[in-house]
Amino acid sequence: MTTDETIRAIREQVASLHAELVRYGLVVWTGGNVSGRVPGEELFVIKPSGVSYDELAPDNMILCDLDGRVVPGTPGSERAPSSDTAAHAYVYRNMPEVGGVVHTHSTYATAWAARGEAIPCVLTAMADEFGGEIPVGPFAIIGDDSIGRGIVATLSGHRSRAVLMQNHGVFTIGKDARDAVKAAVMAEDVARTVHISRQLGEPLPIAADKIDALFDRYQNVYGQKQADK
Ligand SMILES: [Zn+2]
Repeated sequence: MTTDETIRAIREQVASLHAELVRYGLVVWTGGNVSGRVPGEELFVIKPSGVSYDELAPDNMILCDLDGRVVPGTPGSERAPSSDTAAHAYVYRNMPEVGGVVHTHSTYATAWAARGEAIPCVLTAMADEFGGEIPVGPFAIIGDDSIGRGIVATLSGHRSRAVLMQNHGVFTIGKDARDAVKAAVMAEDVARTVHISRQLGEPLPIAADKIDALFDRYQNVYGQKQADK
């Protein structure tokens, strides 16, 4: 594939993945965003700022360099990129293994973020997907690198692909944009279930060695069947 073809493919993927945020009820109005790294290039594709989900299309996705600057003269470049672009760019610069980033204010996960409380690993699905708790990142204000720094500091060396940024919302990372979207969907799902469980009483913990075994199996054995992921 030429670079142009690769960029085109990432534009199409990132545009269509935004529909998954709507499908799973993770976003309202124009909130939330997905980005995808362009493999082999110092570039990523992200949602434009303030555009309705119904209007998102490959040609209004925005191509940025890894400093979050819009690449001039490319489709969509007349618009401003997502207000979270600096955070996405910081993650791509500092976590070379990351190929996709997602941000939402999905209700249950953000309710945990508002409490500044990590979601404990009390479901086998959490052990599978996140390998333990979903951690809390620092309170950070939009507009500079501070959100990106908080994401990278919290998730580096952590199994979880999701972080609850305190008083704000969820950021997820993945090997590509689809993987990061899956993490955002699963983070909201487990945030909801663990919340409901706590209304019933105290959820039972899962032993650390069992969490390790579940995570290892899901990520390695089960993970080879890509169609199931
Ligand atoms: Zn936000």
